[in-house]
Amino acid sequence: MELRQASDTTVDGVPIHGGTEVVPLLRAGLLRAETLVDIRGVVSRGVADGRIGAGVPLAEIECDPQVPEVLREACRLAASPQLRNMGSLGGNLLQATRCWYWRLNWPCRLHDGDECFAREGEHREHAIFANDFCASAHPSDVAAALLALDATLTTSRRELPLAGLYRLPTDDDRRTTTLDPGELILDVRYDKPDASVYLKAMERKRWAFPLVGVAAVRRGATTRVALAGVAPIPWLLDGFESAAPLPRNAYKVDVAKALVKRATAAVAG
Ligand SMILES: Cc1cc2nc3c(=O)[nH]c(=O)nc-3n(C[C@H](O)[C@H](O)[C@H](O)COP(=O)(O)OP(=O)(O)OC[C@H]3O[C@@H](n4cnc5c(N)ncnc54)[C@H](O)[C@@H]3O)c2cc1C
Ligand code: SF4
Repeated sequence: MELRQASDTTVDGVPIHGGTEVVPLLRAGLLRAETLVDIRGVVSRGVADGRIGAGVPLAEIECDPQVPEVLREACRLAASPQLRNMGSLGGNLLQATRCWYWRLNWPCRLHDGDECFAREGEHREHAIFANDFCASAHPSDVAAALLALDATLTTSRRELPLAGLYRLPTDDDRRTTTLDPGELILDVRYDKPDASVYLKAMERKRWAFPLVGVAAVRRGATTRVALAGVAPIPWLLDGFESAAPLPRNAYKVDVAKALVKRATAAVAG
């Protein structure tokens, strides 16, 4: 989701798949579209060994035994059954931030303003890493699982690592993804892991966004760990030294450390 589509900009040709994100944003006036382009007939819905079409609903991924545990569990713990039936893999990767200031259309930095209201205001659920410019916490469990899997995306224009889909917003460029207008995600691919797991801390036991999500994937002696809900983009963990919690979200550091410990123990050979 291109976050700067809010405000006064009307966008021509917005892709829509399940619409679970596009429709609420249109209703809230955060997205103004001249036309919607139904991409359900264009984007693949197949699941094969090591490849998943971007049009596959989360509900199909969570129960397919070919899919690694980390991704199945990330899908199973996301949203509600109804949303998982409608919501596609591609749409999940491009969902917009849940930051309440952004959703209420406050003129914050992701809306091209010059202030991050969350940093000084309510930020209990916000980012603990890379939160200087914008403290939003990336909400996708699925993206964290794919980042830990070191997945590759095929788009209508190129191939790129999952990590390359995302960028931290800056003063010069407020976007949080690198997707060009009109560029579609077609599928994702990954090598099979030896072991993998997804653990999620959330406000309720079901149907809540991740306060912290931890994906761990082991291949041979190497374990790759990625986190959801801790930075403006899905976060590949390289230790906790760079964590910079805000006054009311330091608890996330403790939660993340505990879940990382459990997840790495669970996938240990
Ligand atoms: C109440 C609620 C709770 C949720 N909880 C969670 C949660 O706990 N964890 C979690 O991970 N997610 C959660 N979600 C997100 C949910 O999984 C996504 O809304 C859903 O997967 C989006 O898929 P969609 O097909 O409906 O996307 P759409 O609404 O159709 O599209 C979303 C965005 O992606 C773009 N798009 C869609 N497909 C493509 C494509 N193939 N190529 C390029 N652009 C594309 C659209 O233009 C739009 O910008 C929640 C959503 C809601 C509403
Ligand atoms: S964290 Fe700050 S800049 Fe980012 S979306 Fe929220 S209010 Fe805007």
